[in-house]
Amino acid sequence: MKIGKYEVHQIETGIFGLDGGAMFGIVPRTLWSKLNTPDDENRIDMALRALLITGGKRNILVDTGIGNKFPEKQKKIYKIDQVTYNLNSSLKKFNLETKDITDVILTHLHFDHAGGATGFERGEHYLTFPNATYYVQKTNYEWAIHPSDKDRGSYLRGDFVPIAEKGKLQLIEGRAEIFPQIEVFISNGHTVGQQLVKLSDGKQTLVYCADLIPMASHVKIPYITGFDIYPLQIIEEKKELLSMASSNGWTLFLGHDVMSEAVTVEKSEMGFAVKEKIFL
Ligand SMILES: [Zn+2]
Repeated sequence: MKIGKYEVHQIETGIFGLDGGAMFGIVPRTLWSKLNTPDDENRIDMALRALLITGGKRNILVDTGIGNKFPEKQKKIYKIDQVTYNLNSSLKKFNLETKDITDVILTHLHFDHAGGATGFERGEHYLTFPNATYYVQKTNYEWAIHPSDKDRGSYLRGDFVPIAEKGKLQLIEGRAEIFPQIEVFISNGHTVGQQLVKLSDGKQTLVYCADLIPMASHVKIPYITGFDIYPLQIIEEKKELLSMASSNGWTLFLGHDVMSEAVTVEKSEMGFAVKEKIFL
């Protein structure tokens, strides 16, 4: 898909599995399992999809997937599959390597979004994208350093502290235009200081929804995850985004949906519904 001077593509960095119950909060399994089929350990398949934006001499990546630092035991728990596709093989489709990425916008520092930002070799962390500047909200970085007891397990210091230590981390404060036509805005319901990325040339708009709307099933208003730290707030933020997206025909890019990389939405009697699947 082309928006303004940019080309946008999805970068599949792997697939993993999370407990379906955790992904749909209070929604009964009888309902969500019709939309997302669980395995015999109740896990549903989830994408680890990054967004690549190229143009204006920049190769910008939004989020980095789960990375490759987990030991075998965790890989099994999270059912991580990076054989079908992974960061390197997906970048290669566009003749890119990790060294060619100029900027990495991290929506938030949970390990399934920021894990791929760093690697670990011979007892030391290294930056996966050695030539990139990394961007994250200041409030999210501070939260990640001192997380709550609820979301402590989702923030692994090795994913982000090395970026700051190597002087490659740029902290953003609130809504900002990081590059021409590329804006970030805040959503605090999932975690403090999550930033969503909006790319718009005035006619066409694409929003990377991160964990505000991780999968198409979450377009339904009550479908929120058990991970969200402020449930009522995420519902309000989701309604606001869906209202703008349905009125203006925005494309919503989904990071975790194995079946749809992007969708448009429309108003429905239940609130909002998927209108069309979009293929970038
Ligand atoms: Zn998250």
